[in-house]
Amino acid sequence: MKALEQLVVRARTRLREGRALAGLGGRPARLVLRLDDLDAPGPIPAELLKLEDWYDIVVRVVEWSGPLPVHLVARSEHPFLAEMVRFAHRLECPTTLRTTAAGISPRRADELVDCGLERIVVRVAGVNEATQRAVVGESVADTRRAIAALLAARVSRAAPLDIVLEVPFDARTAPELRALCEEARTVGVDGVRVAAPWAGGPFESGALDALGWVAKQDRPFRRTSADTLGAVREMRGDGPGTPRKGGACPVGTLRVEILPDGTLLSCPFKGDRTRMLSRDPSGAMALAWKALEKHRDAIRTCDRACAHPELTA
Ligand code: SF4
Repeated sequence: MKALEQLVVRARTRLREGRALAGLGGRPARLVLRLDDLDAPGPIPAELLKLEDWYDIVVRVVEWSGPLPVHLVARSEHPFLAEMVRFAHRLECPTTLRTTAAGISPRRADELVDCGLERIVVRVAGVNEATQRAVVGESVADTRRAIAALLAARVSRAAPLDIVLEVPFDARTAPELRALCEEARTVGVDGVRVAAPWAGGPFESGALDALGWVAKQDRPFRRTSADTLGAVREMRGDGPGTPRKGGACPVGTLRVEILPDGTLLSCPFKGDRTRMLSRDPSGAMALAWKALEKHRDAIRTCDRACAHPELTA
């Protein structure tokens, strides 16, 4: 029965993603819960939801749209993390966590797997200590320990956890990509993806050569789409993404994101957001989604094309 429900959720998600990419609108294909400021593209609110508020909001979204993939973004030590993975999993929502390495001890890895986590995306910068510390503020040794803990948890639980490394792309991390991918393959990581910066570029030819090497890696180990690689090459540093060549941005219905104070948005660069507070009668998801109309209009008419995996992958 569970397997059947999961098939339905995945089929509905593919349908919604297809509609979003075709500009047809509809309900969001995924729910993003940003529990803290990890790699946020701008300041996040100081006021924080309580754990019960997060539960309420997830229930309201699932009641309105049916179970949908939930992407959690938070540091690995965040106190709500395991509970939120467990809660979403119980509501039949496939879960992805985008996080840091340092807090993933063997115990934490076991806990996350036991809560039903399906994919973990760990932010890393490379195998060079100075680069790793400068870009993600963690040591290479801690990162290796975290990955070993995740691999061990997957084996000991016989769980189908997908383990992916994400490299924020810039001139410092580009020279690291090859060594990082080779080490990741050797230890049994499932994939590596390059994260386009929220805004940046243009990048020098040496850095772009590294992207060429990434493009030649086989799937499913290569988790960076050709579109992302192309978009990073085009970045000119004059705003988020690159100038759009055609079509409309799909994120208006590809994703709905909740910030730590209950604010709803789809694009982190557009205003006219709304807020959905738990236990507030006006906090029904249908009303909150309607209140985002102007936000979605701004997305539909955006002249940029973003390729950050948190928006597109
Ligand atoms: S391309 Fe989409 S995600 Fe990027 S700024 Fe425009 S509306 Fe936002």
